[in-house]
Amino acid sequence: MLNLLLSMLLLFTNNPITDKKENVMKFELIKLPYATNALEPVISKQTIELHHGKHLQTYVDNLNKLVPGTQFENSELVSIVKNSDGGIFNNAGQVLNHNLYFTQFSPNGGGQPTGRLAEAINSQWGSFDNFKKEFEEAGTSLFGSGWVWLAKDNNGKLSIIKEANGSNPVTKDLTPVLGFDVWEHSYYLDYQNRKADHLKELWKIIDWNVVGERY
Ligand code: MN
Repeated sequence: MLNLLLSMLLLFTNNPITDKKENVMKFELIKLPYATNALEPVISKQTIELHHGKHLQTYVDNLNKLVPGTQFENSELVSIVKNSDGGIFNNAGQVLNHNLYFTQFSPNGGGQPTGRLAEAINSQWGSFDNFKKEFEEAGTSLFGSGWVWLAKDNNGKLSIIKEANGSNPVTKDLTPVLGFDVWEHSYYLDYQNRKADHLKELWKIIDWNVVGERY
């Protein structure tokens, strides 16, 4: 009897109406590659839950509402960010930004970049410490909401790029390699107004394997 009930339940959950709805829901909330408390004390469980579960979810939901019926209906996320404006650009940019942001962390992170990325950082800034200092300064001096990025051009040359609000280096034909969220929602519960302290702590959880692969 229980088996029969279960199969009926499965039949209902696989009905065509649900499938159709899933086709429309194109963009999905990215899954975190760690537990919500795994990045403590650098980023608290509460901040991760709000930032990923509420803020990013809202950008995903907004994008799914805005895109159907526009020229971007069958476009990839990066292409939307490069070619849109207004609400679609803001929400697509923030989905792309946060997908890169949340996947670059690990509870076993920290240390230093290696290989080609380390060489490129050293040739551009002299040392990893010097790069970190300039990156933190770019984030601290960013006025209002935005992001600071390490980005590469087509020749592999690196630069530190500040982007306002939800923008991303792909709008400048650059590839984002590492991104720090400088919106207050990313740190305010844990660090209040101490933005510089928050940026300095983030190095402890950077997964340089992930970041190195992006380079
Ligand atoms: Mn954010």
